[in-house]
Parts: sequence; C-alpha cells; structure tokens
Amino acid sequence: MIKINENYLKLPGSYLFSTIAKKVNEYGAAHPDKKIIRLGIGDVTRPLPKAVIEAMHKAVDEMADAATFRGYGPEQGYDFLRNAIAENDYKARGVDISPEEIFVSDGAKSDCGNIGDIFGVDNVVAVCDPVYPVYVDTNAMAGRAGDYDPKTETWTNLVYMPCLEENGFMPQLPERTPDIIYLCFPNNPSGAAIGYEELRKWVEYARANGAVILYDAAYEAYITENLPHSIFEIEGAKECAIEFRSFSKNAGFTGTRCGFTLIPKELEVNGVSVASLWNRRHTTKFNGVPYIVQRGAEAVYSPEGKAQVRELVDFYMNNARVIREGLAQAGFSVSGGVNSPYVWMKVPEGMTSWDFFDELLDRANVVGTPGSGFGPSGEGYFRLTGFGSAEATIEAIERIKNVFGK
Ligand SMILES: *Cc1c(COP(=O)(O)O)cnc(C)c1O
Repeated sequence: MIKINENYLKLPGSYLFSTIAKKVNEYGAAHPDKKIIRLGIGDVTRPLPKAVIEAMHKAVDEMADAATFRGYGPEQGYDFLRNAIAENDYKARGVDISPEEIFVSDGAKSDCGNIGDIFGVDNVVAVCDPVYPVYVDTNAMAGRAGDYDPKTETWTNLVYMPCLEENGFMPQLPERTPDIIYLCFPNNPSGAAIGYEELRKWVEYARANGAVILYDAAYEAYITENLPHSIFEIEGAKECAIEFRSFSKNAGFTGTRCGFTLIPKELEVNGVSVASLWNRRHTTKFNGVPYIVQRGAEAVYSPEGKAQVRELVDFYMNNARVIREGLAQAGFSVSGGVNSPYVWMKVPEGMTSWDFFDELLDRANVVGTPGSGFGPSGEGYFRLTGFGSAEATIEAIERIKNVFGK
C-alpha cells in the first residue's frame, strides 16, 4: 500500500507569517481608523528596471515569430546569460569561473532546498540560529534533521550555530563537526555581513574537516563596505563551496523568478564531481527558466541595467538607513541595515519578540517580524526591512520615535 514520506509529518506548522497576518487583520478590523504600516515585508515592492522590461518585451516579440521562436532551452540556462554572469559577477571581481559551472534556475529558494538531493541522508548539517527556514525544513523533509523538539524549538540532528550579539551576530565554529554548513551573507534575518578574514576561517574549517559550505549570497548587491560578494573570492573555496545567487532582491525578480547556483569543477566528494551530479539532477528534474525571463536577467548586466539596479538597491538601502538611525535615536540597540536591507533590533528589556510585536502594532500601528520566528536565538529581537515605500518608512519611524523615544 502507498506510504507517504513520514518526514513531512515531523514538520511543525509554519505559523510565523500566518500568525502575523491574523494578528494584523484582527487589529485592523477592530481599529478601522488606524493606518497600519508594514515593515515586516521580505519582498521587494519597486517595479522591474526599465532595461529588464525592454529586454523582456523584445523576447516576447521573438516568441511571436516562427523564425525566432524558442521552445525548450538548455536546462542549465542559455549561454548568453551564463556568460554575462561569469563575466560580471565573477571575472570582474577577480574570480575565474567558467560559464559551465553556472546553473541557471527559477530562484535561490528552489536551489537551496533541492541541493540536498545529491548529498547522503546521513550527513550532519549545521545551520545558523536565527536562520532562513528553507535550509532547516528541506533537510527535515529529506530525513536529515532527526526529530523536532517543540520544547527547544530545534531538530535533534541539526547542529545549531547561535548568532549572538556578543559575536556581532556571527556564527562560531561548531563543537560537533558538520558535513554540510549553510552560511548566508549578508544575512537574512539579522542583516549581518561577513568579512574576508572571517569567511577565510570558514573555508579553512570546511577544508580541514572535509565539509561543504552552501553559501547563500542572495543579498550580495546590498554590500556597501569592503566585503566579499562571493565565497569564491576566498582562496580554496572552489574545493569546498557551492554558491546560490538570485535576481530577486537586486533586480526585483521575486515574481519573475530567476537565480543561479555555482558549483566549481574543483569540488569533489569521494572523487565524484559535485557539479556533474547536480547537472544530472537539474537536467532530469528541471526544464529551464523561460527564455523571456533569461533575456530580462541578461539585461541586468547591461550598462543601463546596472545603473537601474543600483538605483533600486540604493532606494531600499536608504529606507534601511532611515530605520536604523531612527531606532537608534529612539534608544534601541540596532544592527544590520548597512550591507543589507534588514535591520535587526533588540526588543526592550523584559519583553519577548511577540510582546514587542503586539506593542508595536497597538501603539505605533507598525508591523515587523518577531526574531523568535527565525529560531530560538532570535528571541528578544525583531526584524524590520527597507522594502517598503520611502514615505511609509519615514512615517513608521516617526511613530516609533514618538511612542518609544526617550
Ligand atoms: C529572498 C531570499 C532568497 C531568494 O530566493 P528566490 O527564490 O531567488 O526568490 C534566497 N535566500 C534568502 C536568505 C532570501 O532571503
């Protein structure tokens, strides 16, 4: 008789964003006169850059003509896009990557989740705490996480690397040696970014322990300081790392869907090329990103596209600055918001993340995301994002200053 994948039964319900929506709806219904401002949003709000739109329109026209129509493309992505990525994201930073090492996909979320297919179930997985939930839940689905303990809100087989204030919200090398290490910089949710020295430490650790680092660089476009944009800027990383990138947060592709994964040809596990395994998986289970979307992604690398993407990123980063500076003026302890659209604030003494959520909604009519929703070490923290409109962001921060300012 048919059996289900029982690992799915172990997953706790994901209540974070549904609980937030429910609380906000209830508050809105009870106080119809209040204007609620949402700064909890993890999605971009500005339209696609003009260069992207023009490239996509042109591609649509090509699809309308038998002479230029395209059906199935290469599963790994068209050469025009893989070449543009290799040139602009890597060679321009001194990283020698060949287009064959780049696998274009429908986004970093899929790839971060699917990459586990090519690794054994008995690998020990390490994640940051707090963390982007995709890494945790997909490993639980694969049977790699053990059992969920509702008391500690952790999985029995995962190695958690707490990212605490005393360490600048950076993970520390774990006591139990993992085989797979997820790192995300600049980080969602904390907004923390990693420097060259610190990242070198992780690369050396992975190489010394025969581990692989899964590096999520979805927010690299938000880096403003002198920090690595790619893990492959670190010597030796090609032997121990895979990198995930996305057009979602830089160019506004959250609804358009395009990203890529870079697996260097040097990366081998027990003499097996990891890229060849991923190629086998990708070509079997995925049939390519739409031609129209890949032409849009290519335009991100044109001179106009680059300028327009910079404008978008600057827009969100200005919001993040307004949030960070305003909260600091109101007496809060804040981090992030410098190399990331996310601002991570400490909630007032004696409150939980959810207490603060309720208080902020009730007194300032502002919505954010409780840090505890990203893992136990997020308790006592709160995430606000720069993805809102400029006017709403300014108004929200004025309200917070009025309510909480000293
Ligand atoms: C938004 C985000 C992504 C990007 O996901 P896409 O599927 O490419 O839209 C990846 N990782 C993190 C941590 C994110 O916050």
